[in-house]
Amino acid sequence: MSNAQPTDPKELVVALDGPSSSGKSTVGAEAARRLGYRFCDTGLLYRAVAWLALERGVSPDDTAHLVPLAAEVALVADARGRLSHVSVAGRDVTTEVRAAAVDRAVSDYARVAELRAAMVTRQRTLAADGGIIMAGRDIGTVILPDADVKIYLNASAEERARRRAAERQATDEIEAGRILEDLRRRDAIDSSRETAPLRTAADAAVIDTDGCTFEETVAAVLAAIAAGATVGR
Ligand code: C5P
Repeated sequence: MSNAQPTDPKELVVALDGPSSSGKSTVGAEAARRLGYRFCDTGLLYRAVAWLALERGVSPDDTAHLVPLAAEVALVADARGRLSHVSVAGRDVTTEVRAAAVDRAVSDYARVAELRAAMVTRQRTLAADGGIIMAGRDIGTVILPDADVKIYLNASAEERARRRAAERQATDEIEAGRILEDLRRRDAIDSSRETAPLRTAADAAVIDTDGCTFEETVAAVLAAIAAGATVGR
């Protein structure tokens, strides 16, 4: 944790990491709303690059064509200041980047070290003014190692797959099985990659959300932020 002495809790920088479908986006956005913080979902950046790469037929190992795509992608703030939308050349592609094809491909793009390097500064710049919850995989470990508060949101693969299936309104067992399989595959790539793998930061508060309601998880995140704010003083 940083030794910064924020005079206003709104200035805190909160890193929120965790595996796919652990609830980072929904819980993080709601916690940010209640605190009057901005919320930033960095997964959207990687998803938008992957979507664009698929559109243009650029493979993950074609770094010369892949890396410049990062410059075409921008996070967009909604009326409440949440960076929960992403655009490419001014077109909002938030829905497109959540497609199953992107789910399957994104981790293969996100493991590319050169692409990750191209994303570092913009994420740090977004967090520079504080008053933000930034969600991702490497926020507490690599992007914002001095964050005031670090939280790692966890849940079993089965629980996360159930939530994702519900979100997708997938009712048949084959589809549910595929969702679990995809999630495990993505977890494995994200955790084992050489650059910025998914890890729990040593100083992160770990919140296990198995069996927790949305409201309970939001409350746990807010409590961790409140505790971190006290420590920082
Ligand atoms: O969070 P979400 O599931 O939308 O992220 C999609 C993918 O983007 C992840 O599976 C991971 O491969 C990549 N990602 C990343 N670093 C981040 C955020 C997302 O590598 N900070």
